[in-house]
Amino acid sequence: MKVLVVGGGIIGCAAALELARAGCRVTVFERATPGAEASSAAAGLLAPIDDSADTNFAQLALASWRLYPEVVRDLQARTGIDVEYVTRGTIYPTSATERRRDVGAWADIAEFGVELLDDEELHRLEPALSPKISHAILVKGDHWLNNQRLVLAYAQAAAAAGVELRTGCNVTRLVVEAGKIRGLVTEGERVEGDAVLLAAGAWSGELMAAMGAPLRIEPRRGQMIALAHVPPVLTHCVHGEVYLTPRPSGELLIGATVERAGFMRAVTAEGIAGLLQAAFELVPSVRGLSIARTWCGFRPWAPDSLPVLGPWPGVDGLFIATGHFRNGILLAPITARLMTEWITGKELNLPVKDFLPDRFARRSRTA
Ligand SMILES: Cc1cc2nc3c(=O)[nH]c(=O)nc-3n(C[C@H](O)[C@H](O)[C@H](O)COP(=O)(O)OP(=O)(O)OC[C@H]3O[C@@H](n4cnc5c(N)ncnc54)[C@H](O)[C@@H]3O)c2cc1C
Repeated sequence: MKVLVVGGGIIGCAAALELARAGCRVTVFERATPGAEASSAAAGLLAPIDDSADTNFAQLALASWRLYPEVVRDLQARTGIDVEYVTRGTIYPTSATERRRDVGAWADIAEFGVELLDDEELHRLEPALSPKISHAILVKGDHWLNNQRLVLAYAQAAAAAGVELRTGCNVTRLVVEAGKIRGLVTEGERVEGDAVLLAAGAWSGELMAAMGAPLRIEPRRGQMIALAHVPPVLTHCVHGEVYLTPRPSGELLIGATVERAGFMRAVTAEGIAGLLQAAFELVPSVRGLSIARTWCGFRPWAPDSLPVLGPWPGVDGLFIATGHFRNGILLAPITARLMTEWITGKELNLPVKDFLPDRFARRSRTA
């Protein structure tokens, strides 16, 4: 089976690798370079704990999180790329945490290592934390990695597994005839395929709109800062109003804004000021660190903030994998697996109804 993947972000590259391993002939079309957009802009947090442990989204996130240790080992063995996988855990000051999460149910999942820290334990673990913070939750199962390296590792592993990576190649149209996908058009060339996987991140709606099919995916801009973190002031990730993530490469990442700003590629004074102010509240001594870089990226967002995964109704052979919003790095391994199962006609082992592309149409019909 010949599969054409539109988009060479983390989702497109991870899916391409998995599809190639399942025996498909795969070509990835990426208009820039692998990971050029959101997948490089991200912070690389693998933090599946959200409001509740028993939603289908939580199950999806947990399933992907569980795949990560093996993904990291496998990519390192195939490519030699160290993705800087850090497993020390995240400290959530409780004032922020209590407001937005039900840790109770997650605490029952032993592998997450959820612990309540009192004042003394907290400041022993992270002496640089503000003395105003007296209680926190440590989630040892929160991990993080270098997502720029990860997407390159996926792309290299995919190429080594036989995937053709066409970079600098813009897809302008999907070709559908008699209710079946036939391929796609890049600038000046028609390419035939048995299946198309649309994984074009925040831009995924554009190609669908061009064929009169409504897929509402919008960009949600995120701004980030990297401080030079030598000598380091933190060893854990600290997550309050913002997160501070120490990377082995010697940077401390501060992120991230979530903004409705269209595709305006700008780092703003307000965005940076807000991130820094919130960071100072958590760890006052970061004031003295120098700013290494700032950037922004566009998260792919669907109206219910959930990923959009699965076959597009009414077009045989067209599959969608987008809308990963704040969790695309975390969700890449399970997305790759699910999309491969769908495309190759295997049975799925997870409840996916909440993520199907036709859910918005179904809801408006029943409203
Ligand atoms: C600031 C920030 C922080 C984040 N932090 C985290 C985090 O800590 N953990 C986490 O799990 N997630 C995080 N995310 C979210 C995560 O980055 C995204 O969910 C994920 O990268 C989406 O991957 P993707 O492959 O769908 O999209 P993208 O990485 O945007 O890839 C889509 C690709 O498609 C290409 N493309 C688009 N249109 C076409 C076309 N017509 N033809 C050819 N190519 C095309 C683009 O060039 C792009 O490379 C963060 C995002 C941001 C912005």
